[in-house]
Amino acid sequence: MSALKLQTLTPHLYRVPLDQPVVTSFGTMRARWALWVCVRDPDGVEGWGEVWCNFPDSGALHRCRLLQEVFTPLLPVLRGDDPAQLSAQIAARTRILRLQSAEYGPLDQCAAGLDVAIWDLHARRLGQPLYEVLHRALQPTTPSPASPRVRAYASGINPQGAGQTLERAAQAGQRAFKVKVGFGDDIDLRTLQEARAAAGDRWLAADANQGWTLEQAQAFLPQLEEFNLAWMEEPLAADAPAIDWQALRAFAPMPLAAGENINHLPAFHAALQHWGLGVMQPDLAKWGGFTGCLEVVRQSRAHGVMYCPHYLGGGIGLMASAHLLAASGQDGLLEMDVNPNPLRTEALSGALMPQEGWVGLPDSPGLGLTPNLAAMKAWAQPLPI
Ligand SMILES: [Mg+2]
Repeated sequence: MSALKLQTLTPHLYRVPLDQPVVTSFGTMRARWALWVCVRDPDGVEGWGEVWCNFPDSGALHRCRLLQEVFTPLLPVLRGDDPAQLSAQIAARTRILRLQSAEYGPLDQCAAGLDVAIWDLHARRLGQPLYEVLHRALQPTTPSPASPRVRAYASGINPQGAGQTLERAAQAGQRAFKVKVGFGDDIDLRTLQEARAAAGDRWLAADANQGWTLEQAQAFLPQLEEFNLAWMEEPLAADAPAIDWQALRAFAPMPLAAGENINHLPAFHAALQHWGLGVMQPDLAKWGGFTGCLEVVRQSRAHGVMYCPHYLGGGIGLMASAHLLAASGQDGLLEMDVNPNPLRTEALSGALMPQEGWVGLPDSPGLGLTPNLAAMKAWAQPLPI
């Protein structure tokens, strides 16, 4: 097969205002954005990726502009046999700008979305579904699953009406649930009581979104034993020292989870070694794309830590996360937002519908998904330049 080359890069930017804001312990989301990137090779084969842009509200526009100004001019010099080579070339060519501008996050997120698009293009050229191609990259000697399914869970369940939201998710086919905490002990205990009552003995986890100090978490987590939580996510900030994570471990009657706010490979490695985590949750649209997260999956497996992708954006990134989870061969769960977001549901066109807590992946080449742009027209934003 000829070398992998890119001819065009086209960003697609969308915004949906929210009637019901999504709240977290650190802020409120009043609109949903999606930034998609489509690359095309000289033969006209396409690949799609998604760039994380949940916060702040203006962040999507900035990342779109970086794709146009910084990444598009690189296309003529990118060339290689596999996507990881192209990603290494992109990293090398943006390295000094990254340091000089200190725009680590936005540049890394653009590179991550572009990496996903390049892997999608690569798999389409091979005529194989991405989960197979990624599985080979992880475990080249064993066959990939024939018709992959992954376990899923309903995420983004706010304190307000948590029990009802959870019941709606169960009616939609989910069998595992995660609620938001970090809003004060009284509200959190009420949320967990309501959620546990609605979930019965089903899988239930909680997410504090970095909302506590070590002292607060040490005082609060022991009170949660009765809720039998599958994990507590981000009880501490992602920049809390390893010694704090270790100190919390003894107080936590549940596994600890983190990863969505870790943003370079040595930091993932250090967290896996020193934080006492039970669950590692990289977000492939936020850092690393497939190339970076494949290494996090390998390291998580080596440390006996369960890989569960973090994801709370549009449909392309969700589908990409499902492929990497299927390829991992591990029994982690796919994070699926319960909040209405046409940028997720329209893009998926009925794919990844949960049934009894499982979702099946398409087995057509690449992501198995080409977004229906006509259906997205109402939310399309003009490109900044
Ligand atoms: Mg989270």
